[in-house]
Amino acid sequence: MSLSIGKALSMSQMLRPYVESYLLDTEIILGFVVSKTREYLRAHTEESLTKIQVKEFKRMLCKRKQGMPVAYIVGKRCFWDFELTVNESVLIPRPETELLVDFALKSISNLERAERIADLGTGSGAIAIALARGNPECSVHAVDISRDALEVAKTNARNLGVSNIIFHEGSWCDGLPDLNFDLIVANPPYISNNDSHLSGGGLQYEPRLALAAEKSGYSELNSIIQNSCNFLKKDSWLLLEHGYGQQDSVIKELERFGYSDMVRLKDYAGKDRVVAARWEARDN
Ligand code: GLN
Repeated sequence: MSLSIGKALSMSQMLRPYVESYLLDTEIILGFVVSKTREYLRAHTEESLTKIQVKEFKRMLCKRKQGMPVAYIVGKRCFWDFELTVNESVLIPRPETELLVDFALKSISNLERAERIADLGTGSGAIAIALARGNPECSVHAVDISRDALEVAKTNARNLGVSNIIFHEGSWCDGLPDLNFDLIVANPPYISNNDSHLSGGGLQYEPRLALAAEKSGYSELNSIIQNSCNFLKKDSWLLLEHGYGQQDSVIKELERFGYSDMVRLKDYAGKDRVVAARWEARDN
């Protein structure tokens, strides 16, 4: 049976009861299937899909209806000013994380000399790639405990022609090759292990390791805070993304370990989201 672009778009109604962004998601899926932009789709509603395209489109729409995030269905997601390949072994990069990138880029430009940056838990490589592209003279060390995630991150760096990232398999700072970093950034898992949100809203498709942590979500944040100071130069920065309502506790932990000059950042929705802290107590 033939299907026009217009008819295919109207099938977004199938998603409507389940997905708030039903039209946008249908456009993204259809655009992917026919290799056209969303603008093209809207301007060419009479064009027909091939049989193979129809089959592929319906299959993908069903997956979306079942709750699979659109980024996993089409295998890509935009972040910062580029597009990343994603699959179910990496967290889907979030717009909130761009706040961390924005602040990191400004911090780097304010540092007298920034040469070495670490991204702990790099996942798709989102943060590492944004920082490496913005600072081609720096070397960025991207660490992840998951070999599958590292493969995705390496593919992304290669596809985007980024050559100043060195990848390491390991757990947070344990994966770093040596000391003397000017900046360490991380968007670690911070959702409490028993949070009921983990089983819905698409989160059930994302790696649990990338989302959830012990000790009410603080175990990995605290481990990074405790260990990063051993890897930071004098007058360097640690930037951490964290969950809603966690900022005060994160700052307390940073104070406990001797960090200073804490900067609190809110995301676009006005929620506390990122903390930046200076490390000046040690001259490596
Ligand atoms: N650093 C990656 C991101 O921010 C992955 C984070 C994670 O897996 N928790 O998207």
